[in-house]
Amino acid sequence: MTAHREAPKPLFARVALIGIGLIGSSLSHAMRRRGLAGHISGYAQSARTRETAKRLGLVDSIHETAADAVKGADLVILCTPVGVYAPIAQEIAPHLGKGAIVTDVGSVKGAVVRDVGPHIPPGVHFIPGHPIAGTEHSGPESGFAELFDGRWCVLTPVEGTAPEAVEKLSAFWRACGSNVETMDAAHHDMVLAITSHVPHLIAFSIVNTARHLERVTDSEVIKFSAGGFRDFTRIAASDPVMWRDVFLNNKEAALEMLGRFTEDITVLQRAIRFGDGETLHRLFAEARATRKGIIAAGQDTAAPDFGRHKGPPTGAKS
Ligand code: NAP
Repeated sequence: MTAHREAPKPLFARVALIGIGLIGSSLSHAMRRRGLAGHISGYAQSARTRETAKRLGLVDSIHETAADAVKGADLVILCTPVGVYAPIAQEIAPHLGKGAIVTDVGSVKGAVVRDVGPHIPPGVHFIPGHPIAGTEHSGPESGFAELFDGRWCVLTPVEGTAPEAVEKLSAFWRACGSNVETMDAAHHDMVLAITSHVPHLIAFSIVNTARHLERVTDSEVIKFSAGGFRDFTRIAASDPVMWRDVFLNNKEAALEMLGRFTEDITVLQRAIRFGDGETLHRLFAEARATRKGIIAAGQDTAAPDFGRHKGPPTGAKS
């Protein structure tokens, strides 16, 4: 007699993905991999993305409005650029079921608490989140199940959030492959300003600086790009809408960290001007040690060429 084993019950009966780009589609793959959702409903603004999501089997049902997508969902995940969270939250609010969890994946968190929080009805748990995992690619075809494996997901529940809802969402992210950490939104925004937001700003800026140099042609920029510049161009290929919204919604922390960066780069500039090799060597050696720490923590690979030619794409984390 063969033993009959029932499939484990999914963590959530119905998950609504509001936005199906890189992160939304990766979440779908990650949920499918472990059977985390009984049903995945999806919403995307364009007919093209809705068709692609259906064709790729990212969703079990696809909807033309966010309001329709969230009906009956016990987990709602906002996966659009953060600049449109407020109108979406307003639209879905009357359709959220009691006991449902509403979360998001946005790269800033204070603005999400500000824009979404007031719309959440009583009896619905609102827990902002941010998977620190991504690539420079966008759209429903760019997602893959392994995106969150071994990466951190930060949750920023506001005071008074039911601990069992936070635990259930943490279990969801762990089942998607992530490590989970909880902190307050302001702290998240400060840490991410220096680890992600300002580095992206520098990449956008330096790529344009090179492009605008009159004595360096575009073809030279491409031809000689291996010397460090290439990694900036990869980061600078990230979605402009997403990054516009990040800087519009993390203004204070971004400006604070940019100020510190400017001071520190002036120190380097001065050391170069005065031939101060000791300062240059000391600061470069300190920075090098940080890279070793990241590799030791398993957050990147020490493989030559950043392991670029092996496995799924890894890249800009936001
Ligand atoms: P994406 O690939 O560009 O996908 C964005 C999705 O949002 C698409 O489904 C798009 O629909 C929809 N959308 C865009 N504008 C909209 C609007 N005005 N109204 C309604 N829907 C709209 O973006 P993503 O990289 O997945 O990023 C999504 C979120 O994840 C952002 O909040 C970002 O901060 C966060 N995040 C990104 C990364 C990363 O590395 N990319 C990492 C961590 C977190 P259409 O396709 O139909 O236009």
